[in-house]
Amino acid sequence: MDIYFDNCATTKTNEKALSKIIEMSTTCYGNPSSTHKMGFMAEKEITNSRRNISNVLNVKEDEIYFLSGATEGNNLAIIGTCYANKRSGNHIITEKSEHPSVLESFKMLEKEGFSVTYLENDESGNISIDDLKNAITDDTILVSLMHVNNETGVIFDLEKIGKVIKEKNKDTLFHVDAVQSFCKIDIDINKWKIDLLTISGHKVHAPKGVGALYIRKGTKIFQRQYGGTQEKKVRSGTENIIGITALGEAVNDLFPKKSEYFDYVTDLKNDFLSIKDEIEDVFINGENTSPYIANISIIGVKGEVLVHALEDKNIFISTGSACHKGEVSTILTNYGLSADRASSCIRIGFCNENTHEELEILKNAIKEIVPMLRKFKKR
Ligand code: PMP
Repeated sequence: MDIYFDNCATTKTNEKALSKIIEMSTTCYGNPSSTHKMGFMAEKEITNSRRNISNVLNVKEDEIYFLSGATEGNNLAIIGTCYANKRSGNHIITEKSEHPSVLESFKMLEKEGFSVTYLENDESGNISIDDLKNAITDDTILVSLMHVNNETGVIFDLEKIGKVIKEKNKDTLFHVDAVQSFCKIDIDINKWKIDLLTISGHKVHAPKGVGALYIRKGTKIFQRQYGGTQEKKVRSGTENIIGITALGEAVNDLFPKKSEYFDYVTDLKNDFLSIKDEIEDVFINGENTSPYIANISIIGVKGEVLVHALEDKNIFISTGSACHKGEVSTILTNYGLSADRASSCIRIGFCNENTHEELEILKNAIKEIVPMLRKFKKR
């Protein structure tokens, strides 16, 4: 039996999404742009899905744009708004521990001549609100910050952040990568003054290759893809009706149970973290974190080695982001933590389908493997 605790990397497609995939592949497979009945039916399904997502985010239906995932969403939000708003300013802000789809977009724009501020993290993984405030000028056109860090689970206080941004410069756009919080933790787009927000299907039990970008009405943005008139020309290309409708179903299933699942995974995470009292030299990384992610360092044991030792027992966890395959994560060193702590970290990603029995098996396996690996290292 496989025991899967890598739910921040991706999740299993749920039953509702799965039946929608079959339905859309076998009976409702028309091109939504076709003017006949089959096309109309497919378009109607996309509209339903758009409504589901907009209801959950409490925004207008026509502010949701479907695309291929959060990498594309983050690229479009950042590069698309920077090019469209170039005449209003040249300065953009993010922080050092964002997902590569954000950081690489910023690096590209830096090469293009934009001036970039990369905010620092403190030991808890947070950023200083004063640093952010001081960085924003009349020239700042965009601030892009994530809601929940995908490696450590650290939650940024977006209410405070949104307030500071708009007080300092009401024209600065605020983009949020909400991939790890969507359908898991409360998001308030309006109260937090968010202009753009990215989500990804495969983190919420929908398939891979689909996502959505919320764009506040009136936001100036340039398309990154040229072609047909799909998604109001912001994102041309025949719509992924299978993915889009499966995402709508997954969200419909998950969102109403959000607080029940929040409490459940909180319990799981607390249970997991009790391992700190059972093994010496274990450190929890990050403060004020999501209950869906636990990141710990077991000093003296390389994270990568532990991951593979667990894999031999069919238990699946990770060291950090799946997007940094094979590399030691820089997130913990960004936090100012030691190289030992960074190289010995593991990440556990929980979901509502994980059980306490599975957790017991994971904890027992870690307790069995760690002393052996430590002994081996001392030789
Ligand atoms: N942002 C964050 C915070 C993520 O965790 C991920 C996925 N690892 C992405 C963006 C990229 O999402 P996608 O796989 O849909 O491109």
